[in-house]
Amino acid sequence: AKRAGQAYRRWEPALDEQSTGHAKLGAEMRIGLDAGQFRVVYQPIVAFPEGRIAAVEALVRWEHPHRGTVSPAHFVPVAEQNGLIVELGAWILRTACRQMARWRAELGVSAPDKVSVNVSARQLARPGFATSVADILAETGLAPNHLAVEVTETAVFEGGQAVTTLHELRKLGVQIALDDFGTGHSALGLLQTVPVDILKVDKSFVDNVTEAGRHSAIAEALIQISTELGMTAVAEGVETAEQADALSRLGYTLLQGYYFSRPVAEPDFGRSRTAIAA
Ligand code: C2E
Ligand code: MG
Ligand code: MG
Ligand code: MG
Repeated sequence: AKRAGQAYRRWEPALDEQSTGHAKLGAEMRIGLDAGQFRVVYQPIVAFPEGRIAAVEALVRWEHPHRGTVSPAHFVPVAEQNGLIVELGAWILRTACRQMARWRAELGVSAPDKVSVNVSARQLARPGFATSVADILAETGLAPNHLAVEVTETAVFEGGQAVTTLHELRKLGVQIALDDFGTGHSALGLLQTVPVDILKVDKSFVDNVTEAGRHSAIAEALIQISTELGMTAVAEGVETAEQADALSRLGYTLLQGYYFSRPVAEPDFGRSRTAIAA
């Protein structure tokens, strides 16, 4: 068996290189976590057209000393594979909750209502995850109603512990957002079995929302479904004023995207895109 394995490997140099690359990146992540190379940035979710920042999404960044800024799209999957996402994810949650508690204390009514934190499948699959969230909320002094967790359809479509975890989180008073909605496996059926408070409509349905036809039809159907089911819809990846207006006409009131702001260390809660335009 060992021989066969070696022969297989010799003929799969690409696979071997990839796993070596991942192992190296994984080891560097371990070091980077201890060295403080990770940080969290926040992208506004804007109440449109008023312009108030209703919520922020926390997004992790890695400032690698040699590679430069590494995209989470690149390193989060590696961290999920090697398990480091559990420790990294806990650090992200603690950092975001602490920051949010600070904004709530310092800004009063101009503070955002919610911080939304991305949580991976591997974190949700741990039976102790909801308890660790409760501990982080207690430690940072953030009330649970100011936290939402973003999960993907893929992370929860098999049910099991991931869905149990979502029920536990909801019981704590934490909200559940379904991220990148419409791009995953089971889409609509999932809404019957998974507790969902916030539907994040994927950028792909926002991109062509200004054109008549398929894309605007889906964006329109999704706001109707979320309203019917008592959920809040957030449109992701809004890049132009035309898209914002089109979404607003369809009934969307919460918009997120580069048109309003990129993810930043410290959003300017006193100013908003509509306020600037006015
Ligand atoms: P996501 O959760 O769907 O986050 C939205 C992504 O779209 C972010 O990329 C954001 O910067 C980007 N974005 C926002 N507005 C626009 C826009 O108008 N146009 C375009 N082209 N892009 C926009 P980012 O920060 O690179 O994150 C990529 C993905 O990595 C996230 O997708 C999420 O799946 C994952 N990720 C990021 N931070 C975390 C984290 O803290 N934990 C976990 N588990 N995953 C994370
Ligand atoms: Mg997200
Ligand atoms: Mg998303
Ligand atoms: Mg996405």
